[in-house]
Amino acid sequence: MKINDNFERMVPNYLFADVARKTNDFAKAHPDSEIIRLGIGDVTLPLAGVVVDAMKKGCEELRFKESFRGYPEYEGYDFARQAVADYYRSFGVKIDADEVFISDGAKSDCGNIGDIFSQDNTVLIPDPVYPVYVDANIMSGRNIIYAPSSKDDHFLAMPDRKVKADIIYICSPNNPTGAAYNHAQLKAWVDYALENNAVILYDAAYEAFIQDDLPRSIFAVEGARECAIELCSLSKTAGFTGVRCGYTVIPKELSRGGHRLHDLWYRRQATKFNGVSWAVQCGAAAVFSEEGQRQCLENISYYRQNAKIISDTLDELGIYYTGGKNSPYIWFECPNKMDSWEFFDYLLQNAGVVGTPGAGFGKCGKNYFRMTSFNSHEKTLEAVKRIKKLFI
Ligand code: PLP
Repeated sequence: MKINDNFERMVPNYLFADVARKTNDFAKAHPDSEIIRLGIGDVTLPLAGVVVDAMKKGCEELRFKESFRGYPEYEGYDFARQAVADYYRSFGVKIDADEVFISDGAKSDCGNIGDIFSQDNTVLIPDPVYPVYVDANIMSGRNIIYAPSSKDDHFLAMPDRKVKADIIYICSPNNPTGAAYNHAQLKAWVDYALENNAVILYDAAYEAFIQDDLPRSIFAVEGARECAIELCSLSKTAGFTGVRCGYTVIPKELSRGGHRLHDLWYRRQATKFNGVSWAVQCGAAAVFSEEGQRQCLENISYYRQNAKIISDTLDELGIYYTGGKNSPYIWFECPNKMDSWEFFDYLLQNAGVVGTPGAGFGKCGKNYFRMTSFNSHEKTLEAVKRIKKLFI
């Protein structure tokens, strides 16, 4: 018996454990200080009432023989898939309901989608980015190359035609940088993928935060249906981090090696996944109803105001940042050339504020820091007051 020795190639990621340890040590040493956490990657506002009502109704139906349901469809119930397709239509993108696969979230899909691709593919991953793409592909033994980004391109990595890749991860709006691609930039990625016969795995988990005139979906870009799969989540759109629901969209015309990727993914899901519960899919469909959208957008608007509080402060302090406008994340350059862990310690010790060191998201994050808008207005205001005191 041999273990999967690709695990030996994985770099231990102690990011959140180290953040928690240092924060707890500080709290113990300074029991009277009020620590403010702006590193939170989880939502904090409760679910929309209309979503809870739909889930309650869904549960109630399971009480009776006539409306009881057992195993769900692997790919999701028709009404939930149709609700997603209608949502896309609301921002001008046409997808068919049967191209939507309802899942238990984007994290699983981001990792599991690799099952339909050969181990021999070279994977291109932007740096910095959500670490799941890297770890999932190391586990599968794939060769990874990076698309570095920096202040020069405002943390929006662009394709390098000298580099050949088979699978390309794109996350827009990006975690951790909050930067979001415009139409022309995404078109450049689509053209590059088509030239290389590559497939883009487009993570749109934060699309609901987009306010500017930017694509909400890769399928807003011409040619994307021949080269892209889109993964999305209700976690940040509707506060489903605990409820668990997401979806993946695979156009029917997307084929490689004589196979429709849609069919391969169906086969994969039918083998290893038993679907999302009835009640959760009832709640998910309610997210996309008119009232659901209104209520979910109220929460997003609350987080947006926090993001603005933070980005206005960075403007005032003359600190370079990305994000904050189309994203719950604000990514800024550590002042005085500190590296991200030095800055983490400095901010904790001197202001009692906790954020996330950029080094945890890739080499290009070494001198950057991520703050999020998921705390309360009051705490966010207090945190920026303390930060201003340090730097003015
Ligand atoms: N994709 C990105 C870019 C994320 O930042 C996250 C969560 O933080 C996810 C996916 C995970 O989504 P889910 O909660 O649906 O698994």
